[in-house]
Amino acid sequence: MQLRLNSFTKTFDNLTVIDELNLTVESGEMMALLGPSGCGKSTTLFTICGIHRMNGGTLHFGDRDVSNLPSQKRNVGVVFQNYALYPHMNIRENIAFPLRVQKLDNATITRKVGEIAELVHIPELLDRRPAQLSGGQQQRVALARALVRQPDVLLLDEPLANLDAKLRLEMRSEIRRIQLETGITAILVTHDQVEAMSMCDRIALMKDGKIIQLSEPDQMYNDPVDTFVAGFLGNPP
Ligand code: ADP
Ligand code: MG
Repeated sequence: MQLRLNSFTKTFDNLTVIDELNLTVESGEMMALLGPSGCGKSTTLFTICGIHRMNGGTLHFGDRDVSNLPSQKRNVGVVFQNYALYPHMNIRENIAFPLRVQKLDNATITRKVGEIAELVHIPELLDRRPAQLSGGQQQRVALARALVRQPDVLLLDEPLANLDAKLRLEMRSEIRRIQLETGITAILVTHDQVEAMSMCDRIALMKDGKIIQLSEPDQMYNDPVDTFVAGFLGNPP
């Protein structure tokens, strides 16, 4: 489903963090929000999922104006940097949680959890607890929990930041595989240009609450609009 932010503005007290930002993510597309720490990536993501309210502007999922809907009614799946799994529940119940909130019957829940566990390649881990899993496995669980309700959009906030270098490489391609297999519209927030270039269809490069350039990875690398973009992508003039 297409996601559209129009003239999105966010202020904290008197500080304008996002200034009239426009962003369209096409249906089935994976968009990177890339930029240095503090440029407003997470604020944008938290606003899309409904944790923050907008001070101005609108947000649409397809034809639906979700600007004023609470988080639970937006149908978004979110993966945070720290995964935020429930430590006292086993993996099966972690993944089932959003479906229990929806009050689906047990047979449906069992079926959906089984299907999503296959998709993220963790069917053998369902009876364990989060503390018994590696970082990469925990991230797969977080992805499964985010996807199990078949959300309209998937939001990922620095999902690879807590992984070691080897796992990070593996999970880059796994997240992209899962996004392509489900065909879900996704936004990946990252400060890592290689991650953005290798995983996403397009990149929105942010600085000080604005999008400086939005293009496909190759084009951004080969034809940066200014020295900031060039420097950030590691291809300075
Ligand atoms: P990024 O994710 O790109 O590193 P953030 O979106 O987290 O950046 O933050 C953007 C700016 O907004 C920063 O200057 C940050 O200090 C500020 N900010 C973020 N959240 C809050 C908040 N809850 N209250 C006040 N300022 C905030
Ligand atoms: Mg952030």
